[in-house]
Amino acid sequence: MNVVALETVRTFLVPAKVADTTDDALSEAGRDGAERFVLWTGNVQDDTFTVRTAYVPAQTAHRLSDGICVTVDGDELHRLNRWLYENHQILGVQVHSHPTYAYHSDTDDAYPIATQRGALSIVVPDFGAAGIRGRGVATYRLGHTGWQRVGRWGTRRLVQHVGAHPEPIREATDGSR
Ligand SMILES: [Zn+2]
Repeated sequence: MNVVALETVRTFLVPAKVADTTDDALSEAGRDGAERFVLWTGNVQDDTFTVRTAYVPAQTAHRLSDGICVTVDGDELHRLNRWLYENHQILGVQVHSHPTYAYHSDTDDAYPIATQRGALSIVVPDFGAAGIRGRGVATYRLGHTGWQRVGRWGTRRLVQHVGAHPEPIREATDGSR
């Protein structure tokens, strides 16, 4: 694994299939009033990270006096690292949902799953109701001084959804009408 690779990435390409799988996972947890983590794994080539898999780790949702959170235990992180190694992929992006607003909480700063500099952390509001491509999604990047928020326009350049709107099936036209 090339440790510096993620830092040089300027574009994260997200296939619609990955975005859709992520949306399904977030909204499924949301129906139970729980947050959920989804990990985007893939490969770096030149300055582009291509997301290949939406990896949903085994996780536990907690209800605390001051809110809710979700944790992934050490055994699962070990399984994840093994899976990454065997599939020749790296973890580039962590995605998780929040009950209301999307922002990086102190807990999010302190206990990220993606720990390699250059990685992204995307927080989706409202239990993912509007999806990863919806409004209010907050994007952060791990830099020298910790997680830094990426602005809206910066995010548009950085996170590019590909094939997000599949071609509608056109009705056959024979020109006889
Ligand atoms: Zn959070």
